[in-house]
Amino acid sequence: MTDFFLRECGVRLASMPTPRFHKLRPPGEGTAIQTQDGRLAVPADPVIPYIRGDGIGPEVITATREVLDAAVATAYGGERRLVWWRILAGTEAEEPYGELLPPDVFAAVRHYVVALKGPLTTPIGGGYRSLNVTLRQELDLYANVRPIAWIPGIPSPLKHPERVDLVVFREATEDVYAGIEWAAGSEESRKLLNLLEKHYDLRVKNDPALGLKPISEFASKRLVRKALTYAVERGRRNVTLMHKGNIMKYTEGAFMRWGYEIAVQEFRGDVVTEEEVRDQHEGTPPEGKVLVKDRLADNMLQQLLTRTAEYDIIATTNLNGDYVSDAAAGLVGGLGVAPGANIGDHAALFEPIHGSAPKYAGQDIANPMAEILAGAMLLEYIGWSEASHMVRGGVSRAVLEGDVTQDLARQVEGTTVVGTRAFAQSVVDSLL
Ligand code: NAP
Repeated sequence: MTDFFLRECGVRLASMPTPRFHKLRPPGEGTAIQTQDGRLAVPADPVIPYIRGDGIGPEVITATREVLDAAVATAYGGERRLVWWRILAGTEAEEPYGELLPPDVFAAVRHYVVALKGPLTTPIGGGYRSLNVTLRQELDLYANVRPIAWIPGIPSPLKHPERVDLVVFREATEDVYAGIEWAAGSEESRKLLNLLEKHYDLRVKNDPALGLKPISEFASKRLVRKALTYAVERGRRNVTLMHKGNIMKYTEGAFMRWGYEIAVQEFRGDVVTEEEVRDQHEGTPPEGKVLVKDRLADNMLQQLLTRTAEYDIIATTNLNGDYVSDAAAGLVGGLGVAPGANIGDHAALFEPIHGSAPKYAGQDIANPMAEILAGAMLLEYIGWSEASHMVRGGVSRAVLEGDVTQDLARQVEGTTVVGTRAFAQSVVDSLL
């Protein structure tokens, strides 16, 4: 029997009709997670669609499924289980569908609400939009959430890596990632340049390529709202609006301004701004309030190194978010250890920060930790916190055992190199 629980209020829901897929057969078992009024209704046997991905994707996904299944079994003694359902995207989709991102993928994630994803390769060459960017935009997964915290035992270039405990909220539908750009010398570029000259008296030299950077009030505010909600609910200390508004005043500068607006209009009782701290609180934020501040992107990147402990949640635009999360991941072991989630109002897709690392594909040497930790985020998102904590604990203990994959082993003496499968097994053996 299906044992639904609503994450906050415990309501039973009628099941939604399964959509018609073109080439996928819906899973013969399990129940779809549903959303109601922005909340999740999670059955005891949720169907979790998963995309294995390209390059190292299949290996890290297999490792992750094994760890998650073991954690769920241990945490709930057989009363709950994840029903995995493979859906095809990237290279795997090319032959059956004739395209890399078939409509079945979007339909499956929309219907089953929560999915796990391995990295997808973006084919090099003109005309290809990144598959990952397309997934986020088409499914309106507007918040790319990337927690970056140090796990003891993992090598770091910092003297105090324990001071890194960040969550980056990166807007994921706009900015230069919207893919509105034209090649140098193209007809489209020339038309736009002519338009700029004719109507705005703007002369741009050297016949350049052109790109647009859309940043809207709507998208900026909903992203910052998500970051502030997270900070308030989790009792985090501060939210930094990272931007480059000194140069791009109407895009990056507006992002900052809209961010502050949301903070004081919708979170007034819970937040204090840096200006208010200076002018009204003698430089010390009042107890229990989330401090909202902003930093220019260039300064933010250096302050992460020099004043690491002062940053907690970072809310930012798409390109800044990409840079800052990879840079921060480098402080705590690199891309192989950093998980992420793409969260919208109706669906969520969990994945590592890293890409498909093709040079390591099929060799059982890729680090599966980022994908496993993305799986832990998925468990937490569906309210299965016990299993999620168990996975995180298992990863920490496996690292402390000193058995790590080559990307980490090469940075520290005294560790033993293990492969992808062996590391996953070590995590499973370390679940408590
Ligand atoms: P990448 O795949 O993340 O790999 C960059 C480097 O990071 C690797 O050469 C390796 O470093 C290290 N690395 C990444 N993941 C690792 C892991 N699990 N274990 C050990 N080391 C790991 O980035 P890329 O080479 O720039 O991109 C490759 C493809 O992935 C591209 O097509 C890109 O578009 C795509 N991509 C996809 C996503 C996504 O699916 N969300 C994200 C980023 C990129 P060393 O060489 O130092 O060992």
